[in-house]
Amino acid sequence: MKFNRFTKGTGVYTCGCCGRRTRDTGDGAINGLCSTCYDLAGFENSIMDGYQSELTKNEIQLIIRMVQKVYSNGGQREWDALLNQVVAICEERIAMGEV
Ligand SMILES: [Zn+2]
Repeated sequence: MKFNRFTKGTGVYTCGCCGRRTRDTGDGAINGLCSTCYDLAGFENSIMDGYQSELTKNEIQLIIRMVQKVYSNGGQREWDALLNQVVAICEERIAMGEV
């Protein structure tokens, strides 16, 4: 018997954040988020908790790539604030001569 990945009940749902249709991968499903938004929400929480100075260059690049991925797949522009914050963090680091 062939395994049908699109069998009813495999947990396809609409992400409550970006509005994209997504598959239940375990991570964000509990919160109704796609895995990308789930990861972005984690970063957003760290920034809001004041840990922006601990974000590595790789993490910043990852955030930007994930936001671009959401937007290029037709997601709602829910991550503009996070993107702006990340850009501000980059500008701050450049101004401090850390980059
Ligand atoms: Zn999403």
